[in-house]
This record gives sequence, structure tokens and C-alpha cells, in this order.
Amino acid sequence: MRQADRLLRGGFVVTMDAERTVYEDGYVAIRDGRVVGVGPDRECDFEAADTRRLGEVAVLPGIVNGHTHLSNGISRGLFDELPLADWVDRGMWPTLRANDAETTYHGARVALAENLLNGVTTTVVGEFGSPNHDAMDGVLRAVTESRSRAVVARISVDSADDHDPSQATAPDVRESIEDALAEVSRLRGEYGGPLVEVVPEALGVLRCTPEMVREFTAYARAEGTRMTMHVASSPDERDEALHRFGKGSIERLAELDALGPHLLIAHCVWPDETERRLLAETGTGVSHNPVANLMYASGVAPLAEMIEAGVRIGLGTDGASTNNGQNMWEVMKSAIFLQKSRFGASWGSAELALELATLGGARAIGMDAEIGSLEVGKRADLMVVDLLRPHLVPLGTWPSNLVYSGSPDAVRTVLVDGVPVVEDGRLTMWDQDEVVRGGNSAADLMNTRTGLTDMYRRRSSWTWQR
Ligand SMILES: [Zn+2]
Repeated sequence: MRQADRLLRGGFVVTMDAERTVYEDGYVAIRDGRVVGVGPDRECDFEAADTRRLGEVAVLPGIVNGHTHLSNGISRGLFDELPLADWVDRGMWPTLRANDAETTYHGARVALAENLLNGVTTTVVGEFGSPNHDAMDGVLRAVTESRSRAVVARISVDSADDHDPSQATAPDVRESIEDALAEVSRLRGEYGGPLVEVVPEALGVLRCTPEMVREFTAYARAEGTRMTMHVASSPDERDEALHRFGKGSIERLAELDALGPHLLIAHCVWPDETERRLLAETGTGVSHNPVANLMYASGVAPLAEMIEAGVRIGLGTDGASTNNGQNMWEVMKSAIFLQKSRFGASWGSAELALELATLGGARAIGMDAEIGSLEVGKRADLMVVDLLRPHLVPLGTWPSNLVYSGSPDAVRTVLVDGVPVVEDGRLTMWDQDEVVRGGNSAADLMNTRTGLTDMYRRRSSWTWQR
């Protein structure tokens, strides 16, 4: 018998390998954080002190959330029904001014908890480190404690070209390229490790100078690291890019030699045919965030066309104040249903949604050699989903039910690098109730600082009586 650290036996094992093999009564053996065996249970020749006999469950690769902002886990619901430009103006800049390591820590903990309970094992995060540098430290402290895998981008803006208010930047949030990259390097040194990668983000082609985009790209290439951006996110951005550059945001990035496998762009709602081809040819990754795009009426992204063009594409939630949840199951369902509304009911499948959320996300961030499927040699990032739930009846159609019922409720166990971060539907690294209480207290503190305490009540149409 071969030795493993941990052995999961029984249940449906969805490998997401090249043949998309599902073992109907399978096993997964894990040693030193990696998958060392996977196959039909009857062929299992491993033993492990920690051996679990699973019942009616499915074992799947962990989900990759390709785009979120963790610290606004505590500003959920404040800015509903605001157009994106107003949200940035009235929500984002004031929040950035009020953030410190304590508030971002609690916000990130809440959002990370939600991600882990959804079966997310890798999170791609974007956070501002300006004007308060320690805001990044709070987020990275929470990410480190969570013991989950993350790519954490430090977002910067430096453009003063504010003639279009929808693309303006607050002067006190702008920073120099040198300061921004010095901070990225500091954070990489302090928090970078096997699970956490800190990378630069130039927010977008309109809120950053071409020099910032070029310098950040050069930094990412020199350091062999990733870079993220928000690109082609809204009709406003599309129109302003055409006005300023005579071309779309992605063509502009091509002109700046910024596209490539190091780059992951979020949203990408408005790529035209040439731009989709550019994305595919350069190996640039995309995070498609359908629920956030719906909330901000940003349009329906051409997911079908991007897949057809061969773009490396995964799925993301966006932050808790622009989605508003971290529910990747809802994202999967919405991604498919939105394209059905364009192409008819026969478009897509639940299996495609699961592929986009796992292997697709891994490809989009260039980590598919390590994660995204359950294959020998890859990292043991996986989730065990209980199939005996009311919303998953009947058992015979469970892949469909998992996605089209759109609920994270059935996620029972989540492993990152073979280590449980969720057991029996509860977090292992934190006291879940304490995370919630800490989040609510930090939200009160933030709202006092920003003057947004009554933000919800002020727009409510109900009569609130004490
Ligand atoms: Zn975003």
C-alpha cells in the first residue's frame, strides 16, 4: 500500500482532467499538499491515518473567484441602486480615505469567510493601498490567516485627466509610480509565500497614465509575477476610451504592449471582435463577473464569443458592495442564463459553468499547471459537496442542480493544499460568529468615519418605527 496524508474515498469525483472524467465511486489521495492519486475507489492502493469514507457527495476542484475586493465586505448594501460613477464618487473614495488596517482586516475576513464557505480555494483580490498604506496590511493579514490561496493586487491610480466625471480620480488617492511599486515590493516581501502572491494593478487605462500601465507591466514581467486591471467595464468607459484614444481599452492596452499571459483583466464587458482576438492571441486572462455587471447595468459581456475566440476566461463575483454577495454558485448560474437570453435556451450547460469556475479561472490567472483540476501532481485544492439536500433532488441530475439551483449551502468540506479550511460547513481557521461580530463592529466604525451611518435608511421607502 502507498502512503498518503489524507484519503477521501467514495462519492462522485469530478476531475476536470482533459477527458472531464468523473469517477462515480472514486477516491482522492493527498500527500504534502498535492494530489498523489485519483481514480475509481476499487483501484485505490493508498492508506492514510486520515481516511474518510464519503457518502452521497461530489468531490470537485476548488472554485477560483477571479475577481473580488475583500475589504468592502463591510460596506455591503450601502450603495445599492447607485450608478457606478456615483458609487465610485460617493462610496469608493470616501471609503478609501476612512480605511485602515483594522477595518480592512475585518472587511476582508467577512468576505473571505463567505468565499471559503462557497468552496472558493483561490481568490483574486484587488485593494487600494492609497491614501492609507496600511489598508493593504489589514487585507493581507486576513488572507494569510485564512490559509487560502490568493492573488492580491495593490490597485493604483495616477491620472489627472478628469474631463469625464465618470472616469475621475480623487487627488488624494493618486500616487506616483515609484511609491506604488515600492509598496508592492514591500508587501511582496512581507506577505508573499506559497499561498499568497502580491501583484500590481493599474486600475484602468482611463484612471492611470500610460506610463503607469507601462511601468507596472515592466515590473510584472521583470518579477515574473501577475498583474491585474479593470478593463472595458462599462459603456461609459467604452465611450470615453473611444473619445480619448480612438480605440477601445483593450486595443489601447495592446498599443501600450501591456497584454499577455501575465495580465488578468476584470469585467471585459465591451471587447469588440478585434479585441477578443487580441486577448486570445496574447494569452491575456479575463474574469467574467456577470452578477456585478447586472447590478451596475454595465451590459451583458460576450462570454460566448470570448470562449469561441479561445480567450482564457474564468468567473468572479466582484466586491461585496458591487454584487453584493460572494456567491460563486449564483455567478455560475447567471453566466449561463445571460447567454441563453442572447442565443436561446440550448446555449451552455451547468458543466460549462463548473469548468469556467474551476479550470477556467485557473487558466485565466496562469495557474492551471498547479490548480483547477484534480489530477496527480496538482495542488489538493478541492471541495466536498453534500448531494442529499432538498435543492439537489433528484440525485441523478446533480451537476445541473448544483449550478442551476445556485446555492453554496451544500458545500461541506473545503481543502486548500490538502488542509481543511471548511469542515462540516464551518470555517476551521476562525470562529465564524466572531468574524460576523467583528465585521458588524468595523462597519459601524467605518460608517461613523465616512458619515454614511444612515445611508440605507435614507433611501428606504418603509416606515421605520421604534
Ligand atoms: Zn472590481
